[in-house]
Amino acid sequence: SIAFHQVTKKFGDQVVLDQLDFCVRKGEKVTIIGPSGSGKSTVLRILMTLENINAGTVYVDNEPLWHEYQAEQLVPASEAHLRQMRKKMGMVFQQFNLFPHMSVLRNITEAPMHVLGLSKQEAKERALAYLELVGLMDHKDKFPSQLSGGQQQRVAIARALAMRPKILLFDEPTSALDPELVGEVLQVIEQLSNQQDLTLLLVTHEMQFAKDISDRVCFFDRGKMVEEAPPQELFAAPKQARTRDFLANFM
Ligand code: ATP
Ligand code: MG
Repeated sequence: SIAFHQVTKKFGDQVVLDQLDFCVRKGEKVTIIGPSGSGKSTVLRILMTLENINAGTVYVDNEPLWHEYQAEQLVPASEAHLRQMRKKMGMVFQQFNLFPHMSVLRNITEAPMHVLGLSKQEAKERALAYLELVGLMDHKDKFPSQLSGGQQQRVAIARALAMRPKILLFDEPTSALDPELVGEVLQVIEQLSNQQDLTLLLVTHEMQFAKDISDRVCFFDRGKMVEEAPPQELFAAPKQARTRDFLANFM
């Protein structure tokens, strides 16, 4: 589970998350939509501990992420605490972010070996299983530059899965792809959305896809969650004017 309690995030004077309250239950599949600059990526980056927060608390599995308890007081998290918490989550970025100088296989085995301490053989077996899942077994020895964008993104998904995260975060995973490659990536994500235990938090502009796979859709604007509802409800009958204006550009 994920919970943001009154989280404020600033870049300089700019308030990017404004006392944000936002929750995702264990196993829930949630999509965040919203205009550019509304803070969607920042939410994911805070969860991945790529950004710190200025106020409030973020909980992951009911444990503070950016803080920890010492003598029942919340204090800033130690590096050891952050390392522990990071293992719960995996993220797939818009721009794939594969290591360009490593083969597909090594892209996937690297973190399980160095972060989880798997042996080379264990990491390889695990990587092959996830390559099979994303349909790229035949490409294991290639380098990222030899793959299409859709294939690279599927490698990135396999790489995230190889860490066996309980929570998977996707930041516009298809928006850097040519239209004909979007489907193959969405298909893999859809397959993952059937895993009951996996908590999935997705930022996307693929509204039909969001409708198909989400338990709940959250509309963000200016660092706040303006509205949240099951997809049928939010898309068919948005309650807030800002949500309606935003959706009018997509439907
Ligand atoms: P998009 O749909 O364009 O990806 P977003 O909702 O993901 O937008 P964020 O990336 O979370 O938006 O950014 C929110 C705001 O914070 C934006 O105004 C952005 O310019 C600003 N911002 C993000 N990262 C930084 C940074 N490292 N330094 C300064 N400002 C930043
Ligand atoms: Mg973004």
